[in-house]
Amino acid sequence: MGTMEAREKNEYFKEFLTQKLNELLEEANKTVSGMTNERENFPDPTDRASMESERNFTLRIRDRERKLISKIQDALVRIENGTYGICEECGEEISMERLNARPVTTLCIDCKKKQENDEKVRGL
Ligand SMILES: [Zn+2]
Repeated sequence: MGTMEAREKNEYFKEFLTQKLNELLEEANKTVSGMTNERENFPDPTDRASMESERNFTLRIRDRERKLISKIQDALVRIENGTYGICEECGEEISMERLNARPVTTLCIDCKKKQENDEKVRGL
C-alpha cells in the first residue's frame, strides 16, 4: 500500500461515499412515498393487517439504512477533518484493501479481529 496519496484517497472515498449516501437517501424517499400510496390503495381493514406487517418490514429495512446513512455521514466528517482511514484504536493507517471492502470502517483489520475475538470471549 502507500501508493495512493492521502489527499487522493480522501477524494476517492469522498466521491464514493457521497454517491452511496445519495443512493440511500433516494431509496429512503421512495420507501416513504411507497408507504403513502399503499395506505390509499387498501382502505379495507382486513388488508390493513397484512399492510401493517409489510410496513414493519419496511421500517426494519429503513432502520438498517438509517444506521448505514449515519455511518457514511460520520465517514464523510472524518474525511473533512483528516482522520479518515486512520484506525481509531491504534492510530495506524487502515489498508486500502480494507477501506475498499468496508469504506465506513473506523478500525484496521488487526484491531477489528481483536475486537471480534474479545466479543466472542465475552459471548461465551
Ligand atoms: Zn488498529
